[in-house]
Amino acid sequence: MSNRREFIVQVGLAGGALASSQVMAQGALVAETEPAAAGLGYKADAAKADKAKFPKFAAGQQCSTCALYQGKAGAASGPCPLFAGKEVTAKGWCSAWAKKA
Ligand code: SF4
Repeated sequence: MSNRREFIVQVGLAGGALASSQVMAQGALVAETEPAAAGLGYKADAAKADKAKFPKFAAGQQCSTCALYQGKAGAASGPCPLFAGKEVTAKGWCSAWAKKA
């Protein structure tokens, strides 16, 4: 019994270490269906932004041109402070988009 417990604890620790190293290398992508993402109208593809609901959307607006986007130039995705610990796609969009200065 105690061996089994130890095994579970060790697997748990290894799994946790693996998960955190993956987050450091590249966070999981934000899902459009997550409450925070859905609330902001986030779409992984800016072309799919709900233009009826968000009339301020204009072509050219996407995460990579947003002031909040923290991804590296040319990367397919990067962190956004609105979605802590996760990444948004460079081509994504949400209603909090703000022009990069
Ligand atoms: S705030 Fe900007 S970078 Fe973050 S999801 Fe919205 S458009 Fe993308």
